[in-house]
Amino acid sequence: MIIEKHKQWIMTKYSKLLKAIERSKNIELVERSDTEFTNLVKKLVDKATREILGINPCKVIIRKMKTRWTSCSPKGTITINVLAKYLPTHLISYIIYHEICHIIEAKHNKEFRTCTKKYYPNYKILEKELMLYEIKIGLYSLFDANKTATTYLIT
Ligand SMILES: [Zn+2]
Repeated sequence: MIIEKHKQWIMTKYSKLLKAIERSKNIELVERSDTEFTNLVKKLVDKATREILGINPCKVIIRKMKTRWTSCSPKGTITINVLAKYLPTHLISYIIYHEICHIIEAKHNKEFRTCTKKYYPNYKILEKELMLYEIKIGLYSLFDANKTATTYLIT
């Protein structure tokens, strides 16, 4: 049976998720005003766009999104989830760099990873940390066992 075959995999995922839920209880959400958050996002998008693409900053929109931290339109408009204001600065920076690397490469393939690794060689650690905030904030979809928090939210 398919379930039997994947039982071990499911149990491993499940136990990792339970551990992450437990750890997420101990993290503190960052307190910053909307103005502080907007200014920080603009500064980071400006920096990431210049470093990665070597061009002037993309247009930025900040709004509430249910399942994502960031998204990017084909015209290069970056949308940032307003809930990212609760993240520490290094994670806000990471999700912005991740998204701007998508302007170069849409898929999470080798070329894309080369881009993110250049700026964040420790991206795996950051994605685990991000997952704790996703759980804490309530963005993480517990029902989507096939996807990690990151592939689900940072698209
Ligand atoms: Zn992505």
